[in-house]
Formats: sequence, C-alpha cells, structure tokens
Amino acid sequence: MKLLYLSYMNTSKPSYILIALVFLISCKSTAQWEGQGPIQIIETTDKPVTIQTKQTFDAGEGVYFSNELEGARLNEVQRLNDTLIQVTILPENQPINPSPWYGFKIWSEQPQEFWIQFSYGGIGFHRYFPKSSLDGIDFVNVDSADFFQPKTEERRPEMGFLKVKSSKDTLWIAAQDRIGTSHVQQWKEELLKKDFVSKITIGKSKEGRPLEVLKIGEADDQEMLMVISMQHPPELTGFLAMEAFIEELVKDSPEAKKFRKKYNLYVMPQMNPDGVANGHWRHNVGGIDLNRDWVNFNQPETKALSDFMEKKVAETGGKFVFAADFHSTWEDIFYTNNEELEGNFPGLIPKVIKRSSKRIPGYVPNIRPNEGNQRSVTSNSYFFFVHQAESMTFEVGDNTPREIIAMKGQFLAEELMKILNKKNWK
Ligand SMILES: [Zn+2]
Repeated sequence: MKLLYLSYMNTSKPSYILIALVFLISCKSTAQWEGQGPIQIIETTDKPVTIQTKQTFDAGEGVYFSNELEGARLNEVQRLNDTLIQVTILPENQPINPSPWYGFKIWSEQPQEFWIQFSYGGIGFHRYFPKSSLDGIDFVNVDSADFFQPKTEERRPEMGFLKVKSSKDTLWIAAQDRIGTSHVQQWKEELLKKDFVSKITIGKSKEGRPLEVLKIGEADDQEMLMVISMQHPPELTGFLAMEAFIEELVKDSPEAKKFRKKYNLYVMPQMNPDGVANGHWRHNVGGIDLNRDWVNFNQPETKALSDFMEKKVAETGGKFVFAADFHSTWEDIFYTNNEELEGNFPGLIPKVIKRSSKRIPGYVPNIRPNEGNQRSVTSNSYFFFVHQAESMTFEVGDNTPREIIAMKGQFLAEELMKILNKKNWK
C-alpha cells in the first residue's frame, strides 16, 4: 500500500506510462512458474524511536490537552490565536508511511468553543476523520460540519481543522473509534468463555506485553488456519473485519460446529500491542514496519509467530491450509498470491472472496493477485511460500461503514467454512 501510494504521489504522467510498460513486460515474463525466485530482503534490525513525553499541555485561556492515556498520540500544543490551537502529531521515527494516528483529551475551566488545527510536521497527511467521545470508550464521528480540510493540489490535504466545544468534562478526540489495547483484551476474554477457545502466550513484546494467540477448534491440528491483524497500529477497520470473521467461526451454527471438529484456527488479533499502546503511526517500538520482517524475523512479534507456526507443523505433522492478515487503507482491497502458484488448496482464496462478495448487492471486490513468483518480506508471502497456506491480505477502507465491514467479515467466514467443511483431505 505504501509503495503504491508513494508512486502515485510522486509520479508524473510520462514516468507513470513507463511504469505501466515495465509492469506489462514483467507480467509476461513471470507468467510461467519457474520455482521460487530470490527472496527480497529489507533491513529490519532495530531503529531508534522517539518516545512521546506523556504530559498535560496548557493551551492558555484555561484550556488543557493531555496525552496521558494508553494509545494517545500528541506531541505539541500551540495556541495560534484566540480561537485556533495547533496540535502537532509526530511519527515514532522516519521514514514512515504518512498515515498519522492521533488521540488526546481536552478540557477547560469554562465552556469554550475553538478550532484545532492538526499539523503533522510536514511528514504526514490528514488521513483519519476525527472521532470524539465523552467517556473514552464510545467514540462517534464528529459532525461533518465541524471538520474541514483546505483544498490543495495534492491528493491528500496535509491539514485538518476541527471545531470543538470544551468544558470541565473531558472530551476525547481520536483517529478511530477505539483507542488503546483494552478493547482487544475484552474481546479475547469474551471468546475465552467458550470451551473450544484457549489462549497460548507465544512470547513478549519489547515492552513486555504478552504476545497472545487464541486457539479456536477441537480438531487434531492436521489442517490449521492462521489469522492475524493490527501489525500496523492505527488500522482498526482491519481489526473489525477480523473480529466479524472470527465471531462467525465461534457460533453455534451447524457449519461452524463442523468446522471446529475438522480444523483448528489460530488467531493473533493484535500483532503490535506496543505500537498501539504508544499511539504509533505504523512501527513497533523497535522502529520497524512488522510487515517487512517476515524474512529476517528480527522483531519479537514476527519471530514469535513464525516460530509458533513452524513448531506446530514440526510437532503435529499437520499443515496450514489458509491464512489471512487484516489491514486498513483508503478502500477495500484483497491482495492475494499469484493464482498460477499452487499451495495446499489451490483456488481456495479466489473462490472464498468471489462467493462472499456476491452476497453483497452491487459489490465487485477489488482483488489484486501478486503477479510475481518471489517470496517477499510480508506475512502474506511468508504464509504462502513457507507454509503453502492459501493466503490473503484484506485491506479494509478507513471509512467503510461498520455494518459493511461486519458483513464482509461474516460472509468471508461463512463461505470459507462451507468450502473447507466439504473438503476431503485424505
Ligand atoms: Zn497495514
């Protein structure tokens, strides 16, 4: 997503045509599967991150801002005039995908109305439509009349302006409608009440948070599934689709019961708990994009999960037949593997995507199969090339309506179960 986006931003028309030509030629030359090519490697050893100072900011006129909560991101506050306060949101390090997460609290001694100017230090673009909350738990989109972005030549405006009414009662503002890691913990606790769900701690993050995988199913580990989400901290909509997907698999429906007798599904809902807790834009506290570390495994999160999967296979003699990684971007996109390459269940992913999409009237899924035959540095590539698991990355739009996200997650799970339940592995 990052590369596509940057090339869109930086590419003038003639070079765009050139890239298209190179793309067409390269498609042709890789159409024939000739075995796995050389692995692309990206440096993923630790890079320094700037730790955000937790503090209360005095914005003058009796107005206060604070980043003293889990998941917050707020680096500077500066009053520009009587009715305008600039908040500066900075990334954990650079270079970085320009997708700023923000989250903070506001209160004032007297009721006041003023504008907040979001600034990203020239590094980011305003990506997330603001959400507000009066209790820090239930967030809603702010009134669209209270938020505007100046028109620019650029595809993404750098700034955003938000009108707020502050008072003695705390007002929460955040980039998405959940903040911090506690909602993920609560969701896991709910699932763990079911007797066919158990928790496996596979390691610790750099800041000592447990890295947890849930096991769903009562099968013998001969055919397994792996689902992960939130490698990138702000990508809540991907998490929500993953949630809906998993919830379908734990239901009392005949299909789900049959599925759990035949398959065990392992899910790691929060790959990057430190990044979420620190309000990072993209990286873990090692300063690395985890979805570039699936060859080197320099980071504890990717290392723990790949070790877990490889140990499972070695211990049981079983295999992973399906894997999915849920993310967020501007629109809903499925990134799949090269359809000419065969994993443990050829054709599974396109079938599941097409059948589930058909159930949403008028919806034509945006499916982008990888044209190459090389293992790369992403989870999707690791699942496919190392485990031969049929795998996909589902990117969910930042603003896709929550009901549609839930529907997509549910239908994907239902169609997947129907196909997998019919499959005879012997
Ligand atoms: Zn992502």
